Amino acid sequence: GATIGIMGGGQLGRMLAVAAAQLGYRCHIYAPEAESIAADVSARFTSADWDDRAALTAFADDCAVITYEFENVPVEPLTAIPAEKLAPGTRALEVAQDRLLEKRFITELGGRPAPYAPVDSAADMAEAIRSIGAPGILKTRRDGYDGKGQWRIASADLAEELDLPETPLIYEGLVRFAGEFSVILARRADGEICFWESAQNTHVKGILAKSVLPAGPTIAEQVPVARKLAAEAAEKLGYVGVLTLEFFATDDGPVFNEMAPRVHNSGHWSTEGAVTSQFENHIRAICGLPLGDTATVGSSVEMRNLIGTSGEEALALLEDPQAHLHFYGKLDARPGRKMGHVTRIDA
Ligand code: ATP
Ligand code: MG
Ligand code: MG
Repeated sequence: GATIGIMGGGQLGRMLAVAAAQLGYRCHIYAPEAESIAADVSARFTSADWDDRAALTAFADDCAVITYEFENVPVEPLTAIPAEKLAPGTRALEVAQDRLLEKRFITELGGRPAPYAPVDSAADMAEAIRSIGAPGILKTRRDGYDGKGQWRIASADLAEELDLPETPLIYEGLVRFAGEFSVILARRADGEICFWESAQNTHVKGILAKSVLPAGPTIAEQVPVARKLAAEAAEKLGYVGVLTLEFFATDDGPVFNEMAPRVHNSGHWSTEGAVTSQFENHIRAICGLPLGDTATVGSSVEMRNLIGTSGEEALALLEDPQAHLHFYGKLDARPGRKMGHVTRIDA
């Protein structure tokens, strides 16, 4: 079969490569690291910098289509790759790489983010606190994940004492939410769209701890509005593949948090919990194949992340015969690192 290129070498790439292999494709991983847990299960691996244009050109020559498992791939060097090979396109990356652009984009579509203000100086910060108030969260505009690059601001006087990092920032008001959920969709180039059921997501210290289905009535009520926004975002971007939008369910309806132009941790339950997983439908969408049914299998599903968990601890989870263990094969179990996940389905 044809070769699919994946930019980024982490667990999302690994799970995409497994889904691709099942459909008869070979994967070629492109990542700057010397070793990659996605490359471990793929046919080829290019270890090169994101801006190595010669390496990108050779990678593109080898691949029928190229996708991403990491949204912070620098966009400019991607001009070395024929645009028609990239799925999704670079516009989706540009928007999703910058919290300010992403909030403006969603606002233009009629969506509602938390109150926010860009912060590039101490004066901006003071003004942001004046207009938005505290508590709030100061975030780097780019490159954050798992709650990294975020500072909770409990009160206005604490904000004054803050040493601002030398990078573009954004200040957001703290949203009081009843729950968190994400809309995960897959879109084909012809505009066909499908959605997975939205789980209730629980974060601990900024890292996703678990996703549970069914999500409960508060979230379920807000999903239709959130889906409409997500579908409009996908359409506006001419999006191909799986797209994720994270939301807070509040008393005034869904508040947009952020988007990811890729498969998402809150959709990992779909490997066993849906007729077709997010990984498989991403591969199907970028290869122009029909999308599979996204219906949830069973009456309840729980996905728990294994954060900092050792291989030994993970294997012990198999004592539960209903547990589906996904262990990513990372070499060291640093605290706070996503080492795997475990899914449990109740018929
Ligand atoms: P991810 O790993 O999902 O990409 P991230 O580092 O980009 O995470 P966010 O999604 O911005 O981080 O924030 C992580 C979590 O922190 C959120 O899921 C939510 O629980 C909490 N959080 C972030 N922003 C806000 C906010 N404005 N109000 C309330 N809670 C927030
Ligand atoms: Mg994020
Ligand atoms: Mg997030």
